[in-house]
Amino acid sequence: MTRQLLLIGAGHAHAFVLEAFAQRPDKTVSITVVSDSPFAAYSGSVPAWLSGECTLRETQMDIAALCQRAGARFIASPAVEFSTSERQVTLADGSVIAFDVASFNVGSTLTLPQVIDPQGDAGIGASALPTLLAMRPLSSLHHRWQALREEVAQLPAGARQSVVSVGGGAAGCETLMSVLAQLHQQRPDIHWQGELISAADTLLPGAGWLPRWLTARALTRAGVRVHTGVRGRALVPGGVQTDTGEHIEADILLWATGAVGQTWLQQTALPLDEQGFIPVDASLEVTGQPGIFAAGDCAALRSSPLPKAGVYAVRMGPVLAENLRAACHGKPLTPWQPPRRVLALIGTGDGRAIASRGAMGFSGRWVWQWKKRIDARFIARFNPPFND
Ligand SMILES: Cc1cc2nc3c(=O)[nH]c(=O)nc-3n(C[C@H](O)[C@H](O)[C@H](O)COP(=O)(O)OP(=O)(O)OC[C@H]3O[C@@H](n4cnc5c(N)ncnc54)[C@H](O)[C@@H]3O)c2cc1C
Repeated sequence: MTRQLLLIGAGHAHAFVLEAFAQRPDKTVSITVVSDSPFAAYSGSVPAWLSGECTLRETQMDIAALCQRAGARFIASPAVEFSTSERQVTLADGSVIAFDVASFNVGSTLTLPQVIDPQGDAGIGASALPTLLAMRPLSSLHHRWQALREEVAQLPAGARQSVVSVGGGAAGCETLMSVLAQLHQQRPDIHWQGELISAADTLLPGAGWLPRWLTARALTRAGVRVHTGVRGRALVPGGVQTDTGEHIEADILLWATGAVGQTWLQQTALPLDEQGFIPVDASLEVTGQPGIFAAGDCAALRSSPLPKAGVYAVRMGPVLAENLRAACHGKPLTPWQPPRRVLALIGTGDGRAIASRGAMGFSGRWVWQWKKRIDARFIARFNPPFND
Protein backbone atom coordinates (compact mmCIF):
# COMPACT_ATOMS: atom_id res chain seq x y z
CA MET A 1 0.00 0.00 0.00
CA THR A 2 1.34 3.45 -0.90
CA ARG A 3 1.83 5.84 2.02
CA GLN A 4 1.32 9.59 1.52
CA LEU A 5 4.22 11.64 2.92
CA LEU A 6 3.57 15.39 3.04
CA LEU A 7 6.43 17.87 3.53
CA ILE A 8 5.15 21.31 4.54
CA GLY A 9 7.75 24.02 3.83
CA ALA A 10 10.95 23.77 1.84
CA GLY A 11 13.37 24.50 4.67
CA HIS A 12 16.87 23.13 5.17
CA ALA A 13 15.82 19.86 6.87
CA HIS A 14 13.41 18.96 4.07
CA ALA A 15 16.17 19.45 1.49
CA PHE A 16 17.96 16.54 3.23
CA VAL A 17 14.76 14.47 3.23
CA LEU A 18 14.39 14.95 -0.53
CA GLU A 19 18.06 14.16 -1.09
CA ALA A 20 17.69 10.93 0.95
CA PHE A 21 14.67 9.79 -1.10
CA ALA A 22 16.48 10.72 -4.34
CA GLN A 23 19.42 8.56 -3.29
CA ARG A 24 17.29 5.69 -1.94
CA PRO A 25 13.90 5.76 -3.70
CA ASP A 26 10.92 4.03 -2.12
CA LYS A 27 8.07 3.13 -4.46
CA THR A 28 5.70 2.63 -1.52
CA VAL A 29 6.05 6.28 -0.40
CA SER A 30 4.41 9.05 -2.43
CA ILE A 31 5.92 12.43 -1.49
CA THR A 32 4.27 15.85 -1.84
CA VAL A 33 6.10 19.10 -0.98
CA VAL A 34 4.16 22.32 -0.46
CA SER A 35 5.92 25.66 -0.20
CA ASP A 36 5.31 29.26 -1.23
CA SER A 37 8.18 29.22 -3.70
CA PRO A 38 10.09 26.67 -5.81
CA PHE A 39 13.30 28.25 -4.46
CA ALA A 40 14.35 28.20 -0.81
CA ALA A 41 16.81 30.56 0.87
CA TYR A 42 19.94 29.04 2.38
CA SER A 43 20.47 31.01 5.59
CA GLY A 44 24.29 30.84 5.60
CA SER A 45 24.52 32.85 2.36
CA VAL A 46 22.18 35.66 3.48
CA PRO A 47 24.96 38.01 4.69
CA ALA A 48 26.96 37.61 1.45
CA TRP A 49 23.86 38.41 -0.57
CA LEU A 50 22.88 41.39 1.64
CA SER A 51 26.37 42.86 1.34
CA GLY A 52 26.20 42.53 -2.46
CA GLU A 53 28.80 39.78 -2.86
CA CYS A 54 26.49 37.32 -4.60
CA THR A 55 23.16 37.23 -6.38
CA LEU A 56 19.93 36.10 -4.75
CA ARG A 57 19.84 33.00 -6.99
CA GLU A 58 23.29 31.98 -5.71
CA THR A 59 21.82 31.78 -2.19
CA GLN A 60 18.86 29.58 -3.10
CA MET A 61 18.16 25.87 -3.30
CA ASP A 62 16.11 24.81 -6.32
CA ILE A 63 13.50 22.81 -4.44
CA ALA A 64 11.37 22.04 -7.49
CA ALA A 65 14.39 20.42 -9.20
CA LEU A 66 15.24 18.54 -6.01
CA CYS A 67 11.65 17.23 -5.92
CA GLN A 68 12.04 15.98 -9.47
CA ARG A 69 15.16 14.01 -8.48
CA ALA A 70 13.31 12.55 -5.49
CA GLY A 71 10.23 11.67 -7.55
CA ALA A 72 8.19 14.03 -5.38
CA ARG A 73 5.28 16.25 -6.39
CA PHE A 74 5.91 19.97 -5.76
CA ILE A 75 3.05 22.42 -5.17
CA ALA A 76 3.86 26.14 -5.04
CA SER A 77 1.19 27.27 -2.61
CA PRO A 78 1.64 27.79 1.13
CA ALA A 79 -0.27 25.80 3.73
CA VAL A 80 -2.92 27.85 5.52
CA GLU A 81 -4.83 25.23 7.52
CA PHE A 82 -3.89 21.89 9.03
CA SER A 83 -6.21 19.31 10.51
CA THR A 84 -4.71 16.77 12.87
CA SER A 85 -7.98 14.78 13.11
CA GLU A 86 -8.74 14.61 9.37
CA ARG A 87 -5.05 14.35 8.54
CA GLN A 88 -5.12 16.91 5.78
CA VAL A 89 -3.67 20.29 4.91
CA THR A 90 -5.39 23.14 3.05
CA LEU A 91 -3.31 25.37 0.79
CA ALA A 92 -3.74 29.05 -0.09
CA ASP A 93 -4.92 28.02 -3.56
CA GLY A 94 -7.82 26.10 -1.95
CA SER A 95 -6.55 22.58 -2.62
CA VAL A 96 -6.71 20.00 0.15
CA ILE A 97 -4.04 17.31 0.52
CA ALA A 98 -4.43 14.23 2.68
CA PHE A 99 -1.47 12.57 4.34
CA ASP A 100 -0.45 9.52 6.34
CA VAL A 101 2.78 11.09 7.61
CA ALA A 102 3.46 14.86 7.62
CA SER A 103 6.45 17.02 8.47
CA PHE A 104 6.71 20.76 9.14
CA ASN A 105 9.82 22.75 8.19
CA VAL A 106 8.27 26.20 7.73
CA GLY A 107 10.82 28.37 9.54
CA SER A 108 9.90 31.25 11.83
CA THR A 109 8.81 34.86 11.76
CA LEU A 110 9.05 37.76 14.23
CA THR A 111 6.74 40.10 16.11
CA LEU A 112 6.65 43.43 14.33
CA PRO A 113 6.96 46.60 16.41
CA GLN A 114 3.98 48.64 17.43
CA VAL A 115 3.51 51.77 15.27
CA ILE A 116 2.79 55.02 17.12
CA ASP A 117 2.01 57.83 14.73
CA PRO A 118 0.28 60.72 16.51
CA GLN A 119 0.56 62.91 13.39
CA GLY A 120 -0.87 60.21 11.11
CA ASP A 121 -4.35 61.77 10.99
CA ALA A 122 -2.83 65.14 10.06
CA GLY A 123 -1.46 63.49 6.97
CA ILE A 124 2.19 63.95 7.93
CA GLY A 125 2.80 60.75 9.78
CA ALA A 126 3.35 57.91 7.35
CA SER A 127 6.17 59.55 5.42
CA ALA A 128 7.96 60.50 8.66
CA LEU A 129 8.02 56.95 9.94
CA PRO A 130 11.31 55.13 9.36
CA THR A 131 11.38 52.49 6.64
CA LEU A 132 11.09 49.11 8.32
CA LEU A 133 13.05 46.08 7.13
CA ALA A 134 11.84 43.00 9.04
CA MET A 135 14.53 40.31 8.83
CA ARG A 136 12.10 37.37 9.12
CA PRO A 137 10.48 35.49 7.52
CA LEU A 138 13.64 34.76 5.56
CA SER A 139 11.75 33.40 2.55
CA SER A 140 10.32 36.84 1.64
CA LEU A 141 13.25 39.01 2.80
CA HIS A 142 14.36 39.60 -0.80
CA HIS A 143 11.08 41.41 -1.64
CA ARG A 144 11.44 43.75 1.36
CA TRP A 145 15.16 44.35 0.68
CA GLN A 146 14.47 45.16 -2.99
CA ALA A 147 11.76 47.68 -1.99
CA LEU A 148 14.17 49.35 0.44
CA ARG A 149 16.91 49.60 -2.19
CA GLU A 150 14.45 51.23 -4.59
CA GLU A 151 13.60 53.84 -1.92
CA VAL A 152 17.30 54.44 -1.29
CA ALA A 153 17.81 55.07 -5.02
CA GLN A 154 15.42 58.06 -4.75
CA LEU A 155 17.25 59.79 -1.87
CA PRO A 156 18.77 63.20 -2.66
CA ALA A 157 22.58 63.32 -2.89
CA GLY A 158 24.36 64.35 0.30
CA ALA A 159 21.48 63.20 2.58
CA ARG A 160 22.23 61.88 6.06
CA GLN A 161 20.66 58.51 6.86
CA SER A 162 20.59 56.69 10.14
CA VAL A 163 20.25 52.89 9.92
CA VAL A 164 19.26 51.31 13.23
CA SER A 165 19.20 47.58 13.89
CA VAL A 166 16.99 46.34 16.72
CA GLY A 167 18.39 43.01 17.94
CA GLY A 168 21.82 42.22 19.29
CA GLY A 169 21.96 38.56 18.28
CA ALA A 170 24.10 37.24 15.42
CA ALA A 171 21.40 38.08 12.83
CA GLY A 172 21.03 41.69 14.07
CA CYS A 173 24.79 42.39 14.16
CA GLU A 174 25.62 40.59 10.93
CA THR A 175 22.78 42.02 8.88
CA LEU A 176 23.44 45.59 10.02
CA MET A 177 27.08 45.38 8.90
CA SER A 178 26.12 43.67 5.62
CA VAL A 179 23.30 46.13 4.88
CA LEU A 180 25.55 49.13 5.63
CA ALA A 181 28.21 47.72 3.27
CA GLN A 182 25.67 47.40 0.45
CA LEU A 183 24.10 50.83 1.08
CA HIS A 184 27.57 52.48 1.02
CA GLN A 185 28.19 50.73 -2.27
CA GLN A 186 24.81 51.69 -3.75
CA ARG A 187 24.89 55.34 -2.63
CA PRO A 188 28.44 56.46 -1.76
CA ASP A 189 27.14 60.07 -1.95
CA ILE A 190 25.05 59.60 1.22
CA HIS A 191 26.29 59.86 4.78
CA TRP A 192 25.32 56.55 6.42
CA GLN A 193 25.33 56.16 10.21
CA GLY A 194 24.69 52.78 11.88
CA GLU A 195 23.32 52.14 15.38
CA LEU A 196 22.43 48.91 17.12
CA ILE A 197 20.01 48.44 20.00
CA SER A 198 20.18 45.26 22.06
CA ALA A 199 17.72 44.40 24.83
CA ALA A 200 20.32 42.13 26.44
CA ASP A 201 23.22 43.60 28.40
CA THR A 202 25.64 42.15 25.88
CA LEU A 203 25.88 41.44 22.17
CA LEU A 204 25.48 37.80 21.06
CA PRO A 205 23.96 36.53 24.32
CA GLY A 206 25.05 32.94 24.84
CA ALA A 207 28.37 33.32 22.99
CA GLY A 208 31.78 33.45 24.70
CA TRP A 209 33.43 36.76 25.61
CA LEU A 210 35.96 36.54 22.76
CA PRO A 211 33.40 36.28 19.90
CA ARG A 212 31.42 39.03 21.64
CA TRP A 213 34.49 41.25 21.82
CA LEU A 214 35.36 40.55 18.17
CA THR A 215 31.80 41.45 17.14
CA ALA A 216 31.87 44.69 19.15
CA ARG A 217 35.20 45.56 17.50
CA ALA A 218 33.80 44.87 14.01
CA LEU A 219 30.77 47.05 14.72
CA THR A 220 33.03 49.89 15.88
CA ARG A 221 35.12 49.49 12.72
CA ALA A 222 31.89 49.81 10.69
CA GLY A 223 31.14 53.06 12.55
CA VAL A 224 28.17 51.57 14.44
CA ARG A 225 27.15 52.92 17.85
CA VAL A 226 25.90 50.15 20.15
CA HIS A 227 23.26 50.56 22.90
CA THR A 228 22.96 47.48 25.15
CA GLY A 229 20.25 46.96 27.77
CA VAL A 230 17.83 48.94 25.58
CA ARG A 231 14.68 47.35 24.16
CA GLY A 232 13.21 48.80 20.96
CA ARG A 233 9.44 48.99 21.41
CA ALA A 234 7.69 51.03 18.73
CA LEU A 235 8.13 52.69 15.38
CA VAL A 236 7.51 56.42 15.80
CA PRO A 237 7.93 59.37 13.43
CA GLY A 238 11.65 59.94 12.95
CA GLY A 239 12.84 56.85 14.75
CA VAL A 240 12.29 54.13 17.28
CA GLN A 241 10.96 54.43 20.81
CA THR A 242 12.57 52.32 23.50
CA ASP A 243 10.71 50.70 26.41
CA THR A 244 11.96 53.48 28.68
CA GLY A 245 10.40 56.09 26.38
CA GLU A 246 13.73 57.20 24.89
CA HIS A 247 13.72 58.24 21.21
CA ILE A 248 16.47 56.96 18.92
CA GLU A 249 16.60 58.59 15.50
CA ALA A 250 16.25 56.26 12.54
CA ASP A 251 15.53 56.60 8.84
CA ILE A 252 15.83 52.87 8.23
CA LEU A 253 15.00 50.32 10.90
CA LEU A 254 16.21 46.71 10.67
CA TRP A 255 13.97 44.59 12.90
CA ALA A 256 15.91 41.48 13.95
CA THR A 257 14.35 40.58 17.28
CA GLY A 258 13.85 36.98 18.45
CA ALA A 259 12.06 34.42 16.30
CA VAL A 260 8.46 33.38 16.91
CA GLY A 261 6.29 30.71 15.28
CA GLN A 262 4.21 31.28 12.14
CA THR A 263 0.85 32.79 13.15
CA TRP A 264 -1.34 30.42 11.07
CA LEU A 265 -0.16 27.50 13.23
CA GLN A 266 -2.16 29.00 16.12
CA GLN A 267 -5.42 28.19 14.30
CA THR A 268 -4.51 24.48 14.18
CA ALA A 269 -4.93 21.82 16.86
CA LEU A 270 -1.16 21.33 17.01
CA PRO A 271 0.39 21.82 20.46
CA LEU A 272 2.47 25.04 20.55
CA ASP A 273 4.84 26.50 23.13
CA GLU A 274 4.76 30.12 24.37
CA GLN A 275 6.63 31.42 21.31
CA GLY A 276 4.33 29.51 18.95
CA PHE A 277 6.80 26.71 18.15
CA ILE A 278 5.77 23.06 17.78
CA PRO A 279 7.08 20.88 20.63
CA VAL A 280 8.85 17.76 19.40
CA ASP A 281 10.30 14.69 21.12
CA ALA A 282 13.86 13.52 20.51
CA SER A 283 12.72 11.70 17.33
CA LEU A 284 11.42 15.06 15.96
CA GLU A 285 7.88 13.67 16.15
CA VAL A 286 5.39 16.22 17.47
CA THR A 287 4.58 15.51 21.09
CA GLY A 288 1.37 13.48 21.32
CA GLN A 289 0.84 13.48 17.51
CA PRO A 290 2.02 10.18 16.00
CA GLY A 291 3.06 10.49 12.35
CA ILE A 292 3.44 14.28 12.46
CA PHE A 293 6.96 15.71 12.61
CA ALA A 294 8.58 19.16 12.80
CA ALA A 295 12.17 20.33 12.30
CA GLY A 296 14.23 23.49 12.07
CA ASP A 297 13.09 26.84 13.46
CA CYS A 298 9.41 25.85 13.73
CA ALA A 299 10.22 22.96 16.11
CA ALA A 300 10.96 23.24 19.82
CA LEU A 301 12.94 20.26 21.08
CA ARG A 302 11.40 19.51 24.48
CA SER A 303 14.53 18.02 26.02
CA SER A 304 16.80 20.99 25.26
CA PRO A 305 15.62 24.30 23.76
CA LEU A 306 17.91 25.36 20.92
CA PRO A 307 18.69 28.75 19.41
CA LYS A 308 16.98 29.41 16.07
CA ALA A 309 19.80 28.90 13.56
CA GLY A 310 19.93 27.21 10.19
CA VAL A 311 22.70 24.92 11.38
CA TYR A 312 20.26 23.02 13.63
CA ALA A 313 17.77 22.57 10.77
CA VAL A 314 20.66 21.19 8.71
CA ARG A 315 21.78 18.79 11.46
CA MET A 316 18.21 17.53 11.97
CA GLY A 317 17.80 16.79 8.25
CA PRO A 318 19.34 13.29 7.95
CA VAL A 319 17.63 11.92 11.10
CA LEU A 320 14.32 13.45 10.03
CA ALA A 321 14.69 11.70 6.66
CA GLU A 322 15.27 8.33 8.36
CA ASN A 323 12.39 8.83 10.78
CA LEU A 324 9.91 9.88 8.09
CA ARG A 325 10.82 6.76 6.13
CA ALA A 326 10.48 4.64 9.30
CA ALA A 327 7.11 6.24 10.18
CA CYS A 328 5.81 5.42 6.68
CA HIS A 329 6.67 1.76 7.33
CA GLY A 330 5.60 1.62 10.98
CA LYS A 331 9.20 1.06 12.11
CA PRO A 332 10.80 2.43 15.32
CA LEU A 333 12.14 6.01 15.30
CA THR A 334 15.72 7.10 16.03
CA PRO A 335 16.42 9.92 18.50
CA TRP A 336 18.20 13.03 17.20
CA GLN A 337 21.16 14.10 19.30
CA PRO A 338 21.60 17.90 19.28
CA PRO A 339 25.25 18.97 18.92
CA ARG A 340 26.74 20.28 22.17
CA ARG A 341 28.30 23.25 20.39
CA VAL A 342 28.03 24.57 16.85
CA LEU A 343 30.30 26.80 14.84
CA ALA A 344 28.79 30.17 13.91
CA LEU A 345 30.48 32.21 11.17
CA ILE A 346 29.39 35.84 11.27
CA GLY A 347 30.07 38.06 8.26
CA THR A 348 31.09 41.62 9.06
CA GLY A 349 30.40 43.20 5.65
CA ASP A 350 34.03 44.21 5.07
CA GLY A 351 35.38 41.01 3.52
CA ARG A 352 36.01 39.50 6.96
CA ALA A 353 34.08 37.15 9.25
CA ILE A 354 34.11 36.06 12.88
CA ALA A 355 34.16 32.39 13.89
CA SER A 356 32.42 31.63 17.18
CA ARG A 357 32.23 28.26 18.91
CA GLY A 358 31.65 28.21 22.64
CA ALA A 359 34.33 30.38 24.24
CA MET A 360 36.52 30.22 21.14
CA GLY A 361 36.58 33.07 18.63
CA PHE A 362 38.76 34.32 15.78
CA SER A 363 38.30 36.56 12.80
CA GLY A 364 39.88 37.59 9.53
CA ARG A 365 39.57 37.70 5.77
CA TRP A 366 40.38 33.99 5.56
CA VAL A 367 37.42 33.21 7.84
CA TRP A 368 35.10 34.94 5.35
CA GLN A 369 36.64 32.97 2.46
CA TRP A 370 36.28 29.77 4.49
CA LYS A 371 32.61 30.57 5.20
CA LYS A 372 31.96 31.26 1.52
CA ARG A 373 33.51 27.91 0.57
CA ILE A 374 31.33 26.05 3.11
CA ASP A 375 28.20 27.85 1.89
CA ALA A 376 29.01 27.28 -1.79
CA ARG A 377 29.48 23.58 -1.09
CA PHE A 378 26.12 23.40 0.66
CA ILE A 379 24.29 25.15 -2.19
CA ALA A 380 26.06 22.98 -4.82
CA ARG A 381 25.02 19.83 -2.96
CA PHE A 382 21.34 20.65 -3.48
CA ASN A 383 21.67 22.38 -6.88
CA PRO A 384 23.52 19.97 -9.12
CA PRO A 385 24.82 21.77 -12.26
CA PHE A 386 22.45 19.88 -14.58
CA ASN A 387 19.53 21.75 -12.99
CA ASP A 388 20.78 25.23 -13.96
C1 LIG B 1 18.91 37.89 8.53
C2 LIG B 1 19.20 36.52 9.04
C3 LIG B 1 20.45 35.94 8.87
C4 LIG B 1 20.71 34.64 9.32
N1 LIG B 1 21.94 34.12 9.15
C5 LIG B 1 22.18 32.86 9.59
C6 LIG B 1 23.45 32.24 9.39
O1 LIG B 1 24.37 32.85 8.84
N2 LIG B 1 23.62 30.95 9.84
C7 LIG B 1 22.60 30.26 10.45
O2 LIG B 1 22.80 29.08 10.83
N3 LIG B 1 21.41 30.82 10.67
C8 LIG B 1 21.17 32.09 10.26
N4 LIG B 1 19.94 32.65 10.47
C9 LIG B 1 18.87 31.84 11.07
C10 LIG B 1 18.28 31.00 9.95
O3 LIG B 1 17.85 31.81 8.89
C11 LIG B 1 17.13 30.13 10.37
O4 LIG B 1 17.42 29.52 11.60
C12 LIG B 1 16.91 29.06 9.30
O5 LIG B 1 16.57 29.64 8.08
C13 LIG B 1 15.83 28.10 9.74
O6 LIG B 1 15.78 27.09 8.78
P1 LIG B 1 14.44 26.29 8.56
O7 LIG B 1 14.82 25.21 7.62
O8 LIG B 1 13.84 25.93 9.84
O9 LIG B 1 13.42 27.33 7.87
P2 LIG B 1 13.57 28.29 6.63
O10 LIG B 1 14.93 28.31 6.08
O11 LIG B 1 12.97 29.61 7.04
O12 LIG B 1 12.62 27.60 5.55
C14 LIG B 1 11.23 27.58 5.71
C15 LIG B 1 10.60 27.20 4.40
O13 LIG B 1 9.21 27.03 4.58
C16 LIG B 1 8.49 27.75 3.61
N5 LIG B 1 7.22 28.14 4.22
C17 LIG B 1 7.00 29.11 5.14
N6 LIG B 1 5.70 29.14 5.47
C18 LIG B 1 5.09 28.16 4.78
C19 LIG B 1 3.74 27.68 4.69
N7 LIG B 1 2.77 28.23 5.40
N8 LIG B 1 3.47 26.65 3.85
C20 LIG B 1 4.46 26.08 3.12
N9 LIG B 1 5.74 26.50 3.15
C21 LIG B 1 6.05 27.52 3.98
C22 LIG B 1 9.40 28.91 3.25
O14 LIG B 1 9.10 29.41 1.98
C23 LIG B 1 10.76 28.25 3.31
O15 LIG B 1 11.05 27.60 2.10
C24 LIG B 1 19.68 33.94 10.00
C25 LIG B 1 18.42 34.53 10.19
C26 LIG B 1 18.18 35.80 9.72
C27 LIG B 1 16.81 36.42 9.94
